[in-house]
Amino acid sequence: MRTKAMRMSTLFLRTLREDPADADVDSAKLLQRAGYVRKVAPGIFTWLPLGLKVLDKVQAVVREEINSIGAQEVHFPALLPREPYEATHRWEEYGENLFRLQDRHGADYLLAPTHEEMFTLLVKDMYSSYKDLPVVLYQIQTKYRDEFRPRAGLIRGREFIMKDAYSFTVDEEGLKKAYQDERGAYERIFKRLGVKYVIVHAVSGPMGGSESEEFLAPLPIGEDTFALAPSGKAWNVEALTTPRPEPVDYAETPAMQELDTPDSTTIDTLVERFNQLHPREDGRDWTAADTLKNLIVAVKHPADDDHPEGWRELVAVGLPGDRQVDMKRLEAQFAPAEIEEASEADLAAHPELVKGYIGPRVLGPQRSDTESAAHIRYFLDAHVAPGSAWVTGADAQGMHLANAVYGRDFQSDGVVEAAEVRHGDMSPDGSGPLSFERGVEIGQVFQLGLKYSDALGLKVLDRNGKAVPVWMGCYGIGISRVLACIAEMHHDDKGLAWPKAVAPAAVHVVATGKKQEAFDAAEKLVADLEDRGVEVIYDDRPKVSPGVKFKDAELIGVPLVAIAGRDTIANGTIEIRNRDGSDVQAVPADQAAQVIVDRIADLQ
Ligand code: ATP
Ligand code: MG
Repeated sequence: MRTKAMRMSTLFLRTLREDPADADVDSAKLLQRAGYVRKVAPGIFTWLPLGLKVLDKVQAVVREEINSIGAQEVHFPALLPREPYEATHRWEEYGENLFRLQDRHGADYLLAPTHEEMFTLLVKDMYSSYKDLPVVLYQIQTKYRDEFRPRAGLIRGREFIMKDAYSFTVDEEGLKKAYQDERGAYERIFKRLGVKYVIVHAVSGPMGGSESEEFLAPLPIGEDTFALAPSGKAWNVEALTTPRPEPVDYAETPAMQELDTPDSTTIDTLVERFNQLHPREDGRDWTAADTLKNLIVAVKHPADDDHPEGWRELVAVGLPGDRQVDMKRLEAQFAPAEIEEASEADLAAHPELVKGYIGPRVLGPQRSDTESAAHIRYFLDAHVAPGSAWVTGADAQGMHLANAVYGRDFQSDGVVEAAEVRHGDMSPDGSGPLSFERGVEIGQVFQLGLKYSDALGLKVLDRNGKAVPVWMGCYGIGISRVLACIAEMHHDDKGLAWPKAVAPAAVHVVATGKKQEAFDAAEKLVADLEDRGVEVIYDDRPKVSPGVKFKDAELIGVPLVAIAGRDTIANGTIEIRNRDGSDVQAVPADQAAQVIVDRIADLQ
């Protein structure tokens, strides 16, 4: 099919020599400088012709792969009424990130940040039998989120483009299959688009919710941190499980002792006191890693049948003194409950808790016979090995225990992930030490389960005529964010360097000099390429210097550059080279189109 070239003389484009003052990352600078987008307000951008070309290509790849797994495209409004979001509590839960507005009659509306409710209601509207399922629907739509800090250009916008897909199946097995299909499509999409990605386990296994994985583009400008194992497996820090330590044989461990440790309410002073007053017999010094600190936190449980207002529970967590607690990791263990530090009032209600000297003897199973105060469950961090001996609180001013053995002298109510994860910790799969990297979330696949079907009453009749709730999954890709990540990964200090799959054109033809022959040769080449269906940007501007033209070509970042100029006039050749200046070839003008077509075929 014939493809019309974009001529620089008429293309709606102005390249900029300077970076926009407020652009904070390379993709934001270059996409604006090279004339792909213009900023309207923080996190809000206008797409120019070149930008739309790339956007169309990204969307085409996404559509192709999502269609290939049998999903069907629909399109919802972005402007939605309040009621469905009220039913799922998200009208409130979304907080300040939600753009809310009113119509002329005072009715509440929102600009959708995501569309779970609408898809659920649509299927409820139209389907009623297990025979209708499975069905997977998707859209490519503009979303609105009033992000606290729009940043990095298109990467965190307030108006942005998302592909969101939703699967509806009659059972959990169907959901797992739909999830795998979608996950497979994501891998193909990101490979085709030239985006490096890491699949990160997003939800913790044992106590956490349903299965979810995030696709992160590993980029130092990213806001997400993930832990990477030598095997290539990766985890969100909140989802990371610590390999369980081997049990320690405590047959030789001396009996637990109560020891004086005046003024030692911190781990540092405790270690100092022990080294002064109770030196170890094996010659080494006590360190923070020998101590077990016990924190009291408040767990805020959501409403249930017995507690319509929710309820608050104090819980104790023991972890090695050389590690900090990671409240987000701990909270993930108690989801959907939230966690906060215990208040003075919480502690005052428990006189058995002696601040700075809290020990296991007043906690958990040790106190299940408690008299007055409510029972405080006691959880141990996963680093605490069964049989290991600790220095820990003795529940009296200035007193600590030594040789308190877990499993001999005290028990727990369970093991949790409470401690921070450190660079060098062993990875969950045992493949070696973890390292930390930063990334940008470009997609997420999520097994929602029954959350939305329950909230909105989406049921179908099963084989036996019984109404059952529908299993749902949701699957998002940030289309405009992915485009920016491609730019982030494919550029140099001179400009963008698009992979072939998304470049706005395959070749940038430049006519240089003042002589008409060069322009005639370029025109001929462009016509030839148009006939062959090659996408071309043609710099036909008569009065612009070669230097400016080459700079623009580098900035715009099309994979191949073809030059008609002095050499064309002198010996009838056209120069063909890659965007980065490599693989320079001088070919006779009448063969140039064929050489370009062949080189395009070889491009990545
Ligand atoms: P983040 O943690 O980065 O805020 P999210 O987890 O809230 O993202 P989802 O609700 O999972 O985002 O949305 C699906 C996809 O939409 C994300 O994986 C991401 O690629 C994209 N996305 C989310 N927020 C934005 C935004 N403000 N600008 C551009 N793309 C976004
Ligand atoms: Mg997400």
